[in-house]
Amino acid sequence: MITTADHSSSTSSVLLKVTDLRVTFSTTDGNVTAVDNLNFDLSSGETLGIVGESGAGKSQTAFALMGLLASNAQVAGSAQFNGRELLNLPEKKLNRMRAKDIAMIFQDPMNSLNPYMRVGKQLTEVLRLHKKISHSEAIEESIRMLDAVKVSEARKRMRMYPHEFSGGMCQRVMIAMALLCNPKLLIADEPTTALDVTVQAQIIALLNDLKHEFNTAMIMITHDLGVVAATCDKVLVMYAGRIMEYGQTRDIFYRPGHPYSIGLLNAVPRLNTKSDSLITIPGDPPNLLHLPKGCPFQPRCQYAMERCSTTIPSLEHFGSGRLRACFKPVEGKYCGR
Ligand code: SF4
Repeated sequence: MITTADHSSSTSSVLLKVTDLRVTFSTTDGNVTAVDNLNFDLSSGETLGIVGESGAGKSQTAFALMGLLASNAQVAGSAQFNGRELLNLPEKKLNRMRAKDIAMIFQDPMNSLNPYMRVGKQLTEVLRLHKKISHSEAIEESIRMLDAVKVSEARKRMRMYPHEFSGGMCQRVMIAMALLCNPKLLIADEPTTALDVTVQAQIIALLNDLKHEFNTAMIMITHDLGVVAATCDKVLVMYAGRIMEYGQTRDIFYRPGHPYSIGLLNAVPRLNTKSDSLITIPGDPPNLLHLPKGCPFQPRCQYAMERCSTTIPSLEHFGSGRLRACFKPVEGKYCGR
């Protein structure tokens, strides 16, 4: 079996190794496989982008790693973090690892903070829970971290409530909270989606700076290829819970090898085109309860051929360190970009 893990850097040690990850939900209409046979690995200081439309399985992958799946989910496979299995860990052990070893930033910062609690208390609680330090040390540490994420007048803001912060400032607080215990892995689930464009750029720049400063590995979950280009070393393109393409960011951007990656890239608005209309991928993502036979992308793929509607393409090597699941031969610029 070929996996993305076959392409891990030999020079750096693997921090996270995900093997055959599968997430299935039991629903009243039947079982839904949200993540199907996912494989990847990540080294310290490296950033992996997981991209795809809604329903691709990006967030469920993150929730499986954090032990935050809904109660009707079953998870199978393996996720080794620093040599330790994460999947199906008891809640108590997971709680000890969260924030200290693996932290997560969520999409909506306004709703992620407790509106009834001062920001300072929310920060110091994390430190007091995971580090054996005094209350005054926790306050000083929190102020230092707010300074690091460029929250102005940090000491004063410790006494404020989340509603007194803008969306961008709340996200900075969330990032500060995630980094307080210096986790080895940070999972960012659409961290800029709820923010306006200027603030998005600031948060991306901040994440890049902090990642280098703390040598944190990062999984960036996003549907925004601009965010991927700005932050990621390598990219996993997901569709209907499966890997469609995997490779280095520059390869996927300059020479995409899967029709779905090409569709996503073509859908990015460009300033240098005269057309008034935006390019889209025709059709909608599939209902996971009723996946099409063969390649899941087949009903929307302009290159689909007979074989695509009967057989599921397996993940194969193509080019150096790249993988894709597609029957269409790679023919130079077949992507039409
Ligand atoms: Fe398109 Fe066929 Fe490739 Fe699927 S396998 S992406 S349908 S060409």
